[in-house]
Amino acid sequence: MTSPQSGPETCAETSAEADDAAGVLRRVFGYGSFREGQREIIEHVVAGGDALVLMPTGGGKSLCYQIPALVREGVGVVISPLIALMQDQVDALTALGVRAGFLNSTQEADERRRVEAAFLAGELDLLYLAPERLRAPGTPDLLDRGAIALFAIDEAHCVAQWGHDFRPDYLALSTLHERWPAVPRVALTATATEATHAEIASRLGLEEARHFVASFDRPNIRYRIAPKKEPRRQLLKLLRTEHPGDAGIVYCLSRTSVEKTAAFLTENGIEALPYHAGLDARTRAAHQARFLREDGLVMVATIAFGMGIDKPDVRFVAHLDLPKSVEGYYQETGRAGRDGLPSTAWLVYGLQDVVQQRRMIETSEGDDAHRRRLGSHLDAMLALCETVECRRVRLLAYFGQRGATACGNCDTCLSPPETWDGTIAAQKLLSAVLRLRRERHQSFGAGHVIDILLGRETEKVVQHGHASLTVFGVGTELNESEWRGVVRQLLAQGLLAVKGDYGSLVLTDDSAEVLARRRQVPLRREPERPARAEPAARSAGSRRAAPADLPEEAVPFFERLRAWRAASAREQGIPAYMIFH
Ligand code: ADP
Ligand code: MG
Ligand code: ZN
Repeated sequence: MTSPQSGPETCAETSAEADDAAGVLRRVFGYGSFREGQREIIEHVVAGGDALVLMPTGGGKSLCYQIPALVREGVGVVISPLIALMQDQVDALTALGVRAGFLNSTQEADERRRVEAAFLAGELDLLYLAPERLRAPGTPDLLDRGAIALFAIDEAHCVAQWGHDFRPDYLALSTLHERWPAVPRVALTATATEATHAEIASRLGLEEARHFVASFDRPNIRYRIAPKKEPRRQLLKLLRTEHPGDAGIVYCLSRTSVEKTAAFLTENGIEALPYHAGLDARTRAAHQARFLREDGLVMVATIAFGMGIDKPDVRFVAHLDLPKSVEGYYQETGRAGRDGLPSTAWLVYGLQDVVQQRRMIETSEGDDAHRRRLGSHLDAMLALCETVECRRVRLLAYFGQRGATACGNCDTCLSPPETWDGTIAAQKLLSAVLRLRRERHQSFGAGHVIDILLGRETEKVVQHGHASLTVFGVGTELNESEWRGVVRQLLAQGLLAVKGDYGSLVLTDDSAEVLARRRQVPLRREPERPARAEPAARSAGSRRAAPADLPEEAVPFFERLRAWRAASAREQGIPAYMIFH
């Protein structure tokens, strides 16, 4: 735990507040000791200071405001977006003998009046408030009439414009300080790049607050990222071989994919429940409750699921689609292994993920600056996927923790990916893109450009007369799947970009460096693919013709190609036009 703005340390053991805090920790919560950082934060807030707390999911943020609320005079007011969890949180506190209540829009008027009365009578220790309640007429006046110990702003990243959890209601929280200048505020989040950091501080007027930054390392999580082939089958294999009977979360991008994956797992004997924003509130609540209470259930969900979920024994978090940012990935995978036992973070991704996400960014609402920001989030995620370094080292570096040593536990540590010199392959591919643009004023998606390099006389090649291009058939040393890997990695390295509805490949500023032979392009060899007999054949310099990735020699070429394309599209659950054109 570091606190960049800290002054000289006071001796924690001898101060009365610390005694109280430690006493509350034992008597009320039944814990023997503080976790990393908790004591410093609690003391600071008890003494009336403002704090910005950055601590990973499961780190123990709640106690950082619950204990000060109990130690200080008055009620701790907790602003939380997790309306669905308020009842659970209040029940859990009540069971510990803490007097807690909540106000949100799901309540009956009667119930609300009862909580308000308890607040005014000084009969509450903690009051949970949905952010929109704070702006509701009457709430500020109500708060004025009671004694407030502190404001806690939980999941504070919701104030940051660029996160997917952004809530406009959070922006109004900047007024807390104006109206109640004497009340200390503590903002808490598990999201912690320096940019988000700064945005939270400035939007909440917490520039003067002391920052507490915990280590983001989750040593019990083993990170693995593999190429996407048949995602559901790959998942099934993982669950059967490494996580039989374990509870876990599977994240998918779309609702349809959530439904299909849950059904697929169930058909294959693994108990799985769907969760996404398209399900009615009752079903969602029921599925969440079952996941929390029962053993060994798999929740298949969109990112709508998980914030604030405190289930200690989630043994794996699997992503069937690429997360939009490293922050999202970290938060989602962080839901695994909160009990400290070994857990798996597993992700499969492929070229179509990159194409699809670039396209979503391009068509997203907002201005160019917004799109550039989304683009750089995605780039960072891709760089993590394609790294040949330790995943944990990269992840921690992203969160500003430099100098970590390789973990010895992630996929790249356990089987270091081989690299090969992809310079010539990259030149060929970029040159094909360049020639299509210069000579034909056209651009095409990866599938067609690869067909050209492989010298395939597809209908489209014939239709456009692309067999006469000088690059036609110059890339037979790699097969289709290897070329797709090249494209994916060039996209990840920013040496190539995609544009438009059909995911057309276009050059970037850096492409010129490669085409001018001023830049080497090391590429990661695809793991999970049986190595070929002669490794040298993979080097881009080799001219050996590789057999295309197609079955059944006897079947006429076009028929095979069409069948293979259709099957590929089906397996990946995405429209064929997104892969091939
Ligand atoms: P966060 O909000 O940071 O994700 P929580 O506040 O929900 O994390 O805490 C995660 C879990 O850790 C909870 O089950 C909590 O009871 C437990 N916990 C927190 N502090 C301590 C402590 N000092 N000792 C033991 N367990 C703790
Ligand atoms: Mg929390
Ligand atoms: Zn590692």
